[in-house]
Amino acid sequence: MAKHFDLIVIGTGSGGSTAAGKCATAGWKVAQIDSRPFGGTCARRGCDPKKVLVGAAELIDWNLRMKGHGISGATSIDWQELMEFKRTFTQPVPENREKGMERVGITPIHGRASFVDEETIEVNGETLKANNFLIAAGAKPAPLPIDGFEHLITSTQFLELDELPDKLIFVGGGYISFEFAFIAALAGAQVEILHQGERPLEGFDADLVNILLERTGELNIKVHLNTEVKSVTKDGNSYRVEASQKGNAQTYTGNLVIHGAGRVPDIDNMQLKEGNVERTKEGIKVNEYLQSISNPNVYAAGDAVDSNGLPLTPVAGFESHVVASNLLDGNHRKAEYPAQPTAVFTIPPLAMVGLTEQQARDAGNDIEVNFKKTDEWYSYRRTNESTAAFKTIINKETGHILGAHILGSKAEEIINLFAMAMNQNLKATALKKMVYAYPSHASDIPYMV
Ligand SMILES: Cc1cc2nc3c(=O)[nH]c(=O)nc-3n(C[C@H](O)[C@H](O)[C@H](O)COP(=O)(O)OP(=O)(O)OC[C@H]3O[C@@H](n4cnc5c(N)ncnc54)[C@H](O)[C@@H]3O)c2cc1C
Repeated sequence: MAKHFDLIVIGTGSGGSTAAGKCATAGWKVAQIDSRPFGGTCARRGCDPKKVLVGAAELIDWNLRMKGHGISGATSIDWQELMEFKRTFTQPVPENREKGMERVGITPIHGRASFVDEETIEVNGETLKANNFLIAAGAKPAPLPIDGFEHLITSTQFLELDELPDKLIFVGGGYISFEFAFIAALAGAQVEILHQGERPLEGFDADLVNILLERTGELNIKVHLNTEVKSVTKDGNSYRVEASQKGNAQTYTGNLVIHGAGRVPDIDNMQLKEGNVERTKEGIKVNEYLQSISNPNVYAAGDAVDSNGLPLTPVAGFESHVVASNLLDGNHRKAEYPAQPTAVFTIPPLAMVGLTEQQARDAGNDIEVNFKKTDEWYSYRRTNESTAAFKTIINKETGHILGAHILGSKAEEIINLFAMAMNQNLKATALKKMVYAYPSHASDIPYMV
Protein backbone atom coordinates (compact mmCIF):
# COMPACT_ATOMS: atom_id res chain seq x y z
CA MET A 1 0.00 0.00 0.00
CA ALA A 2 1.23 3.50 -0.81
CA LYS A 3 2.63 5.50 2.11
CA HIS A 4 0.37 8.40 3.03
CA PHE A 5 1.32 11.91 4.21
CA ASP A 6 -0.55 15.07 5.16
CA LEU A 7 1.92 17.05 3.07
CA ILE A 8 4.57 16.16 0.52
CA VAL A 9 6.99 18.96 -0.36
CA ILE A 10 8.92 18.69 -3.63
CA GLY A 11 12.18 20.60 -3.17
CA THR A 12 14.41 21.33 -0.19
CA GLY A 13 15.26 24.97 -0.94
CA SER A 14 13.80 28.10 0.61
CA GLY A 15 10.44 27.66 -1.12
CA GLY A 16 9.88 24.23 0.36
CA SER A 17 11.58 24.25 3.71
CA THR A 18 9.63 26.83 5.70
CA ALA A 19 6.27 25.25 4.91
CA ALA A 20 7.60 21.73 5.53
CA GLY A 21 9.00 22.79 8.92
CA LYS A 22 5.90 24.71 10.03
CA CYS A 23 3.49 21.91 9.09
CA ALA A 24 5.67 19.23 10.72
CA THR A 25 5.97 21.33 13.87
CA ALA A 26 2.17 21.63 13.91
CA GLY A 27 1.97 17.82 14.02
CA TRP A 28 1.41 17.07 10.35
CA LYS A 29 2.96 13.99 8.75
CA VAL A 30 5.32 15.59 6.22
CA ALA A 31 7.73 14.21 3.61
CA GLN A 32 10.26 16.40 1.77
CA ILE A 33 11.86 15.23 -1.45
CA ASP A 34 14.85 16.33 -3.47
CA SER A 35 16.55 14.80 -6.49
CA ARG A 36 19.80 16.53 -5.54
CA PRO A 37 21.62 16.57 -2.19
CA PHE A 38 19.43 18.56 0.20
CA GLY A 39 19.57 22.32 0.62
CA GLY A 40 18.36 23.88 -2.62
CA THR A 41 20.06 26.36 -4.92
CA CYS A 42 20.83 29.31 -2.65
CA ALA A 43 22.85 27.52 -0.01
CA ARG A 44 24.60 25.02 -2.29
CA ARG A 45 24.98 26.52 -5.77
CA GLY A 46 23.63 30.08 -5.67
CA CYS A 47 23.67 33.08 -3.37
CA ASP A 48 25.85 31.79 -0.54
CA PRO A 49 28.81 30.22 -2.38
CA LYS A 50 28.71 33.06 -4.91
CA LYS A 51 29.03 35.70 -2.21
CA VAL A 52 32.07 33.92 -0.74
CA LEU A 53 33.78 34.39 -4.11
CA VAL A 54 32.50 37.96 -4.36
CA GLY A 55 34.05 38.68 -0.96
CA ALA A 56 37.49 37.65 -2.21
CA ALA A 57 37.08 39.65 -5.42
CA GLU A 58 36.06 42.72 -3.39
CA LEU A 59 39.32 42.48 -1.48
CA ILE A 60 41.32 42.47 -4.72
CA ASP A 61 39.32 45.43 -6.03
CA TRP A 62 39.78 47.42 -2.82
CA ASN A 63 43.48 46.70 -2.86
CA LEU A 64 43.77 47.87 -6.50
CA ARG A 65 41.83 51.04 -5.75
CA MET A 66 44.02 51.96 -2.80
CA LYS A 67 47.29 51.50 -4.65
CA GLY A 68 49.15 54.78 -4.38
CA HIS A 69 46.87 55.85 -1.52
CA GLY A 70 48.74 54.16 1.30
CA ILE A 71 48.51 50.54 0.20
CA SER A 72 51.29 48.76 -1.64
CA GLY A 73 51.93 45.18 -2.59
CA ALA A 74 49.77 43.01 -4.78
CA THR A 75 47.10 40.62 -3.58
CA SER A 76 45.85 37.82 -5.75
CA ILE A 77 43.24 35.10 -5.67
CA ASP A 78 44.38 31.51 -5.21
CA TRP A 79 41.37 29.95 -6.91
CA GLN A 80 41.84 26.44 -5.51
CA GLU A 81 42.20 27.71 -1.96
CA LEU A 82 39.22 29.99 -2.37
CA MET A 83 37.16 27.03 -3.63
CA GLU A 84 38.21 25.01 -0.61
CA PHE A 85 37.01 27.86 1.61
CA LYS A 86 33.75 28.03 -0.35
CA ARG A 87 33.21 24.31 0.20
CA THR A 88 33.33 24.81 3.96
CA PHE A 89 29.99 26.57 3.47
CA THR A 90 28.37 24.32 0.87
CA GLN A 91 29.50 20.83 1.83
CA PRO A 92 27.89 20.59 5.28
CA VAL A 93 24.53 21.80 3.97
CA PRO A 94 22.89 18.50 2.89
CA GLU A 95 23.67 16.65 6.10
CA ASN A 96 22.71 19.59 8.30
CA ARG A 97 19.45 20.05 6.43
CA GLU A 98 18.55 16.39 6.69
CA LYS A 99 19.28 16.34 10.41
CA GLY A 100 17.16 19.48 10.80
CA MET A 101 14.26 17.80 9.01
CA GLU A 102 14.49 14.72 11.14
CA ARG A 103 14.54 16.84 14.30
CA VAL A 104 11.06 18.19 13.46
CA GLY A 105 9.80 14.83 12.24
CA ILE A 106 9.95 15.39 8.46
CA THR A 107 10.55 12.22 6.40
CA PRO A 108 13.46 12.99 4.04
CA ILE A 109 13.27 11.31 0.63
CA HIS A 110 16.00 11.36 -2.02
CA GLY A 111 14.79 11.06 -5.60
CA ARG A 112 12.89 12.77 -8.41
CA ALA A 113 9.17 13.17 -7.87
CA SER A 114 6.55 13.01 -10.60
CA PHE A 115 2.76 13.02 -10.42
CA VAL A 116 0.75 9.86 -10.96
CA ASP A 117 -2.66 11.40 -10.26
CA GLU A 118 -4.13 14.28 -8.26
CA GLU A 119 -3.24 12.69 -4.92
CA THR A 120 -0.28 10.52 -5.80
CA ILE A 121 3.35 10.97 -6.79
CA GLU A 122 6.05 8.51 -7.67
CA VAL A 123 9.64 8.61 -6.43
CA ASN A 124 12.24 5.92 -7.19
CA GLY A 125 9.48 3.58 -8.34
CA GLU A 126 7.56 3.98 -5.08
CA THR A 127 4.13 5.63 -4.96
CA LEU A 128 3.35 8.11 -2.21
CA LYS A 129 0.00 9.68 -1.44
CA ALA A 130 -0.79 12.96 0.30
CA ASN A 131 -3.69 15.26 1.11
CA ASN A 132 -1.54 18.22 0.08
CA PHE A 133 1.50 18.87 -2.09
CA LEU A 134 3.84 21.83 -2.26
CA ILE A 135 5.77 22.20 -5.50
CA ALA A 136 8.94 24.13 -4.69
CA ALA A 137 11.14 22.66 -7.40
CA GLY A 138 13.09 25.83 -8.18
CA ALA A 139 14.53 26.81 -11.54
CA LYS A 140 17.09 25.58 -14.07
CA PRO A 141 19.11 27.30 -16.80
CA ALA A 142 16.85 28.14 -19.75
CA PRO A 143 17.31 26.00 -22.86
CA LEU A 144 18.79 28.20 -25.62
CA PRO A 145 18.52 27.84 -29.40
CA ILE A 146 22.29 27.57 -29.85
CA ASP A 147 24.03 24.89 -31.92
CA GLY A 148 26.48 23.24 -29.56
CA PHE A 149 24.42 24.27 -26.49
CA GLU A 150 25.90 21.25 -24.68
CA HIS A 151 29.28 23.02 -24.56
CA LEU A 152 27.95 25.74 -22.25
CA ILE A 153 28.57 25.22 -18.56
CA THR A 154 25.99 26.25 -15.97
CA SER A 155 26.35 28.55 -12.97
CA THR A 156 26.48 25.42 -10.80
CA GLN A 157 29.50 24.12 -12.74
CA PHE A 158 31.17 27.54 -12.59
CA LEU A 159 30.87 27.50 -8.80
CA GLU A 160 32.65 24.13 -8.76
CA LEU A 161 35.57 24.97 -11.08
CA ASP A 162 38.85 23.67 -9.69
CA GLU A 163 40.78 25.99 -11.93
CA LEU A 164 39.81 29.29 -13.45
CA PRO A 165 40.63 29.29 -17.18
CA ASP A 166 42.34 32.31 -18.76
CA LYS A 167 39.55 33.39 -21.04
CA LEU A 168 35.83 33.20 -20.31
CA ILE A 169 32.80 33.99 -22.40
CA PHE A 170 29.43 34.57 -20.76
CA VAL A 171 26.27 34.13 -22.78
CA GLY A 172 23.62 36.57 -21.56
CA GLY A 173 23.87 39.87 -19.73
CA GLY A 174 21.85 39.15 -16.60
CA TYR A 175 22.88 39.13 -12.97
CA ILE A 176 24.62 35.72 -13.03
CA SER A 177 26.92 36.74 -15.91
CA PHE A 178 27.74 40.10 -14.39
CA GLU A 179 28.47 38.76 -10.92
CA PHE A 180 30.65 35.92 -12.21
CA ALA A 181 32.35 38.24 -14.71
CA PHE A 182 33.54 40.55 -11.93
CA ILE A 183 34.76 37.60 -9.85
CA ALA A 184 36.63 36.09 -12.79
CA ALA A 185 38.14 39.39 -13.98
CA LEU A 186 39.42 40.25 -10.50
CA ALA A 187 40.82 36.72 -10.23
CA GLY A 188 42.86 37.48 -13.34
CA ALA A 189 40.81 36.05 -16.23
CA GLN A 190 39.90 37.81 -19.47
CA VAL A 191 36.16 38.11 -19.71
CA GLU A 192 33.62 38.85 -22.42
CA ILE A 193 29.85 39.06 -22.02
CA LEU A 194 27.64 38.54 -25.07
CA HIS A 195 24.16 39.94 -24.59
CA GLN A 196 21.47 39.86 -27.23
CA GLY A 197 19.51 42.87 -25.94
CA GLU A 198 20.09 46.61 -26.24
CA ARG A 199 21.09 46.86 -22.61
CA PRO A 200 22.23 44.40 -19.93
CA LEU A 201 20.72 43.94 -16.43
CA GLU A 202 17.39 44.92 -17.92
CA GLY A 203 15.37 45.06 -14.69
CA PHE A 204 17.76 47.60 -13.12
CA ASP A 205 17.88 51.36 -13.62
CA ALA A 206 19.37 52.17 -17.04
CA ASP A 207 21.35 55.22 -15.83
CA LEU A 208 23.03 53.30 -13.02
CA VAL A 209 23.72 50.32 -15.29
CA ASN A 210 25.50 52.71 -17.69
CA ILE A 211 27.71 53.91 -14.84
CA LEU A 212 28.41 50.29 -13.86
CA LEU A 213 29.42 49.61 -17.46
CA GLU A 214 32.18 52.24 -17.10
CA ARG A 215 33.61 50.04 -14.34
CA THR A 216 33.39 46.86 -16.44
CA GLY A 217 35.37 48.77 -19.06
CA GLU A 218 38.04 49.78 -16.51
CA LEU A 219 38.42 46.11 -15.51
CA ASN A 220 38.63 45.11 -19.16
CA ILE A 221 35.39 43.10 -19.00
CA LYS A 222 34.13 43.43 -22.56
CA VAL A 223 30.36 43.68 -22.85
CA HIS A 224 29.03 43.12 -26.38
CA LEU A 225 25.42 44.24 -26.76
CA ASN A 226 22.92 43.30 -29.50
CA THR A 227 24.96 40.13 -29.89
CA GLU A 228 23.06 36.91 -30.40
CA VAL A 229 25.01 33.69 -29.97
CA LYS A 230 24.33 31.22 -32.79
CA SER A 231 26.73 28.36 -32.19
CA VAL A 232 29.52 27.06 -29.96
CA THR A 233 32.11 24.59 -31.21
CA LYS A 234 34.95 22.96 -29.35
CA ASP A 235 38.39 23.38 -30.83
CA GLY A 236 41.04 21.61 -28.72
CA ASN A 237 41.19 23.43 -25.38
CA SER A 238 39.14 26.34 -26.53
CA TYR A 239 35.66 27.13 -27.75
CA ARG A 240 34.64 29.14 -30.75
CA VAL A 241 31.49 31.17 -30.36
CA GLU A 242 29.75 32.40 -33.48
CA ALA A 243 27.36 35.27 -32.99
CA SER A 244 25.44 37.85 -34.93
CA GLN A 245 25.75 41.49 -33.91
CA LYS A 246 23.00 43.45 -35.63
CA GLY A 247 23.30 41.10 -38.60
CA ASN A 248 27.12 41.11 -38.71
CA ALA A 249 28.84 37.78 -38.05
CA GLN A 250 31.24 37.85 -35.09
CA THR A 251 33.55 35.20 -33.65
CA TYR A 252 34.77 34.98 -30.07
CA THR A 253 37.10 32.39 -28.55
CA GLY A 254 37.53 31.36 -24.96
CA ASN A 255 38.45 28.42 -22.74
CA LEU A 256 35.01 28.25 -21.23
CA VAL A 257 31.53 29.38 -22.24
CA ILE A 258 29.11 30.00 -19.40
CA HIS A 259 25.32 30.08 -19.52
CA GLY A 260 24.11 33.31 -17.95
CA ALA A 261 21.04 33.76 -20.11
CA GLY A 262 18.19 33.22 -17.73
CA ARG A 263 16.49 30.51 -15.72
CA VAL A 264 13.12 28.81 -16.12
CA PRO A 265 11.00 26.81 -13.65
CA ASP A 266 12.27 23.26 -13.20
CA ILE A 267 8.88 21.60 -13.66
CA ASP A 268 9.06 20.03 -17.13
CA ASN A 269 9.61 16.45 -16.03
CA MET A 270 7.11 16.26 -13.23
CA GLN A 271 4.14 14.81 -15.14
CA LEU A 272 2.07 17.82 -14.09
CA LYS A 273 -0.71 16.76 -16.47
CA GLU A 274 -1.18 13.49 -14.57
CA GLY A 275 -1.59 15.54 -11.41
CA ASN A 276 -4.00 17.95 -13.12
CA VAL A 277 -1.63 20.83 -12.29
CA GLU A 278 -1.78 23.67 -14.79
CA ARG A 279 1.32 25.67 -15.58
CA THR A 280 2.48 28.63 -17.65
CA LYS A 281 5.96 29.39 -19.01
CA GLU A 282 6.67 31.18 -15.70
CA GLY A 283 5.67 28.30 -13.43
CA ILE A 284 2.77 26.64 -11.65
CA LYS A 285 -0.47 28.59 -12.23
CA VAL A 286 -1.83 29.59 -8.82
CA ASN A 287 -4.51 31.75 -7.21
CA GLU A 288 -3.84 34.52 -4.69
CA TYR A 289 -3.32 31.88 -1.96
CA LEU A 290 -0.57 30.22 -4.03
CA GLN A 291 -2.85 27.23 -4.58
CA SER A 292 -2.96 25.53 -7.98
CA ILE A 293 -5.94 26.79 -9.97
CA SER A 294 -6.61 23.27 -11.29
CA ASN A 295 -5.75 20.91 -8.42
CA PRO A 296 -6.69 22.29 -4.97
CA ASN A 297 -4.43 19.72 -3.27
CA VAL A 298 -1.41 21.47 -4.73
CA TYR A 299 0.34 24.70 -3.69
CA ALA A 300 3.52 26.18 -5.16
CA ALA A 301 6.26 28.53 -3.95
CA GLY A 302 9.64 29.94 -4.96
CA ASP A 303 11.16 29.94 -8.43
CA ALA A 304 8.68 27.26 -9.61
CA VAL A 305 5.53 29.36 -9.16
CA ASP A 306 4.07 31.88 -11.58
CA SER A 307 3.49 34.68 -9.07
CA ASN A 308 4.22 38.37 -8.51
CA GLY A 309 7.29 37.41 -6.50
CA LEU A 310 10.80 37.86 -7.87
CA PRO A 311 12.90 34.68 -8.25
CA LEU A 312 14.90 35.36 -5.10
CA THR A 313 15.62 33.42 -1.93
CA PRO A 314 13.81 35.69 0.55
CA VAL A 315 10.78 35.79 -1.73
CA ALA A 316 10.74 31.97 -1.91
CA GLY A 317 10.81 31.96 1.91
CA PHE A 318 7.99 34.52 2.07
CA GLU A 319 5.85 32.43 -0.27
CA SER A 320 6.57 29.30 1.74
CA HIS A 321 5.24 31.12 4.84
CA VAL A 322 2.07 32.08 2.97
CA VAL A 323 1.56 28.47 1.85
CA ALA A 324 2.12 27.14 5.38
CA SER A 325 -0.49 29.57 6.79
CA ASN A 326 -3.03 28.53 4.17
CA LEU A 327 -2.35 24.84 4.59
CA LEU A 328 -2.63 24.92 8.37
CA ASP A 329 -5.61 27.27 8.74
CA GLY A 330 -7.35 27.10 5.36
CA ASN A 331 -6.99 29.67 2.58
CA HIS A 332 -6.96 33.04 4.32
CA ARG A 333 -3.53 34.57 3.65
CA LYS A 334 -3.07 36.15 0.24
CA ALA A 335 0.37 36.47 -1.29
CA GLU A 336 0.57 40.23 -0.79
CA TYR A 337 4.17 40.98 -1.55
CA PRO A 338 6.06 43.60 0.41
CA ALA A 339 8.66 45.72 -1.42
CA GLN A 340 11.23 43.22 -2.72
CA PRO A 341 14.80 44.56 -2.59
CA THR A 342 17.29 42.89 -4.89
CA ALA A 343 20.98 43.31 -5.65
CA VAL A 344 23.38 42.30 -8.35
CA PHE A 345 26.65 41.54 -6.60
CA THR A 346 29.00 43.17 -9.03
CA ILE A 347 31.87 45.14 -7.54
CA PRO A 348 30.49 47.52 -6.51
CA PRO A 349 26.97 46.10 -6.15
CA LEU A 350 23.88 47.57 -7.75
CA ALA A 351 20.70 47.33 -5.68
CA MET A 352 17.11 48.34 -6.18
CA VAL A 353 13.69 48.23 -4.59
CA GLY A 354 10.33 49.27 -5.97
CA LEU A 355 9.73 50.93 -9.32
CA THR A 356 12.16 52.08 -11.95
CA GLU A 357 11.77 55.65 -13.18
CA GLN A 358 10.10 54.37 -16.34
CA GLN A 359 7.67 52.12 -14.44
CA ALA A 360 6.75 55.01 -12.14
CA ARG A 361 6.07 57.28 -15.12
CA ASP A 362 4.15 54.57 -16.99
CA ALA A 363 1.94 54.12 -13.93
CA GLY A 364 1.00 57.78 -14.27
CA ASN A 365 2.61 59.01 -11.05
CA ASP A 366 3.66 62.62 -10.62
CA ILE A 367 7.24 61.98 -9.53
CA GLU A 368 10.34 63.66 -8.22
CA VAL A 369 13.50 61.94 -9.44
CA ASN A 370 16.79 62.42 -7.61
CA PHE A 371 19.70 61.07 -9.61
CA LYS A 372 23.33 61.79 -8.77
CA LYS A 373 26.79 60.33 -9.10
CA THR A 374 28.25 60.04 -5.62
CA ASP A 375 31.90 59.13 -6.20
CA GLU A 376 32.83 62.55 -4.77
CA TRP A 377 30.94 61.83 -1.53
CA TYR A 378 33.03 61.01 1.51
CA SER A 379 31.70 57.41 1.77
CA TYR A 380 33.21 56.53 -1.60
CA ARG A 381 36.26 58.84 -1.69
CA ARG A 382 37.43 57.22 1.55
CA THR A 383 37.86 53.93 -0.32
CA ASN A 384 38.73 55.56 -3.65
CA GLU A 385 35.66 54.29 -5.50
CA SER A 386 34.92 55.78 -8.88
CA THR A 387 31.64 53.95 -9.41
CA ALA A 388 28.87 55.23 -7.18
CA ALA A 389 25.48 56.77 -7.83
CA PHE A 390 21.86 56.68 -6.74
CA LYS A 391 18.41 57.38 -8.05
CA THR A 392 15.33 57.76 -5.89
CA ILE A 393 11.80 58.17 -7.14
CA ILE A 394 9.32 59.93 -4.89
CA ASN A 395 5.61 60.43 -5.34
CA LYS A 396 5.27 64.25 -5.37
CA GLU A 397 1.67 64.15 -4.14
CA THR A 398 2.11 61.83 -1.16
CA GLY A 399 5.81 62.10 -0.40
CA HIS A 400 6.16 58.31 -0.45
CA ILE A 401 9.16 56.55 -1.94
CA LEU A 402 8.22 54.62 -5.08
CA GLY A 403 11.66 53.29 -5.91
CA ALA A 404 15.30 53.44 -4.86
CA HIS A 405 18.36 52.43 -6.87
CA ILE A 406 21.86 52.46 -5.45
CA LEU A 407 25.22 51.71 -7.01
CA GLY A 408 28.30 51.59 -4.80
CA SER A 409 29.74 49.60 -1.95
CA LYS A 410 27.18 48.64 0.72
CA ALA A 411 24.31 49.24 -1.74
CA GLU A 412 22.94 45.81 -0.78
CA GLU A 413 22.68 47.00 2.84
CA ILE A 414 21.35 50.53 2.28
CA ILE A 415 18.59 49.24 0.01
CA ASN A 416 17.04 47.35 2.93
CA LEU A 417 16.40 50.66 4.74
CA PHE A 418 14.55 51.94 1.69
CA ALA A 419 12.58 48.66 1.56
CA MET A 420 11.67 49.08 5.22
CA ALA A 421 10.55 52.67 4.64
CA MET A 422 8.39 51.55 1.71
CA ASN A 423 6.90 48.62 3.64
CA GLN A 424 6.10 50.85 6.60
CA ASN A 425 4.63 53.51 4.33
CA LEU A 426 7.12 56.09 5.59
CA LYS A 427 7.47 59.34 3.69
CA ALA A 428 10.81 60.47 2.29
CA THR A 429 10.82 63.21 4.93
CA ALA A 430 10.85 60.54 7.66
CA LEU A 431 14.12 59.19 6.23
CA LYS A 432 15.49 62.74 6.09
CA LYS A 433 14.69 63.42 9.75
CA MET A 434 16.29 60.25 11.12
CA VAL A 435 19.58 60.35 13.03
CA TYR A 436 22.09 57.88 11.56
CA ALA A 437 25.34 56.49 12.90
CA TYR A 438 28.16 58.41 11.24
CA PRO A 439 30.29 57.83 9.21
CA SER A 440 28.22 55.13 7.57
CA HIS A 441 26.79 54.60 4.11
CA ALA A 442 23.28 54.80 5.55
CA SER A 443 24.02 58.31 6.80
CA ASP A 444 24.01 59.36 3.12
CA ILE A 445 20.30 58.55 2.86
CA PRO A 446 19.00 62.02 3.87
CA TYR A 447 20.87 63.42 0.85
CA MET A 448 19.25 60.88 -1.47
CA VAL A 449 15.61 61.79 -0.84
C1 LIG B 1 24.11 31.40 -9.32
C2 LIG B 1 22.90 31.90 -8.59
C3 LIG B 1 23.02 32.96 -7.73
C4 LIG B 1 21.92 33.44 -7.04
N1 LIG B 1 22.09 34.50 -6.20
C5 LIG B 1 21.04 34.96 -5.49
C6 LIG B 1 21.21 36.02 -4.56
O1 LIG B 1 22.30 36.57 -4.41
N2 LIG B 1 20.15 36.41 -3.83
C7 LIG B 1 18.91 35.83 -3.99
O2 LIG B 1 17.98 36.22 -3.28
N3 LIG B 1 18.71 34.84 -4.87
C8 LIG B 1 19.75 34.38 -5.62
N4 LIG B 1 19.57 33.35 -6.50
C9 LIG B 1 18.21 32.79 -6.68
C10 LIG B 1 17.87 31.85 -5.54
O3 LIG B 1 18.87 30.88 -5.42
C11 LIG B 1 16.51 31.20 -5.81
O4 LIG B 1 15.55 32.21 -5.97
C12 LIG B 1 16.09 30.31 -4.67
O5 LIG B 1 17.05 29.32 -4.43
C13 LIG B 1 14.74 29.65 -5.01
O6 LIG B 1 14.39 28.73 -4.01
P1 LIG B 1 13.41 27.55 -4.35
O7 LIG B 1 13.15 26.83 -3.07
O8 LIG B 1 12.28 28.00 -5.14
O9 LIG B 1 14.25 26.57 -5.32
P2 LIG B 1 15.60 25.80 -5.09
O10 LIG B 1 16.40 26.36 -4.00
O11 LIG B 1 16.23 25.72 -6.44
O12 LIG B 1 15.15 24.34 -4.63
C14 LIG B 1 14.44 23.49 -5.49
C15 LIG B 1 14.91 22.07 -5.27
O13 LIG B 1 13.96 21.20 -5.89
C16 LIG B 1 14.65 20.07 -6.40
N5 LIG B 1 13.80 19.47 -7.44
C17 LIG B 1 13.44 19.97 -8.64
N6 LIG B 1 12.60 19.14 -9.28
C18 LIG B 1 12.43 18.07 -8.47
C19 LIG B 1 11.68 16.88 -8.57
N7 LIG B 1 10.90 16.62 -9.62
N8 LIG B 1 11.76 15.98 -7.55
C20 LIG B 1 12.54 16.22 -6.46
N9 LIG B 1 13.26 17.35 -6.31
C21 LIG B 1 13.20 18.27 -7.30
C22 LIG B 1 15.95 20.63 -6.93
O14 LIG B 1 16.94 19.64 -6.94
C23 LIG B 1 16.24 21.76 -5.93
O15 LIG B 1 17.18 21.35 -4.96
C24 LIG B 1 20.66 32.83 -7.21
C25 LIG B 1 20.53 31.74 -8.08
C26 LIG B 1 21.62 31.28 -8.77
C27 LIG B 1 21.47 30.12 -9.70
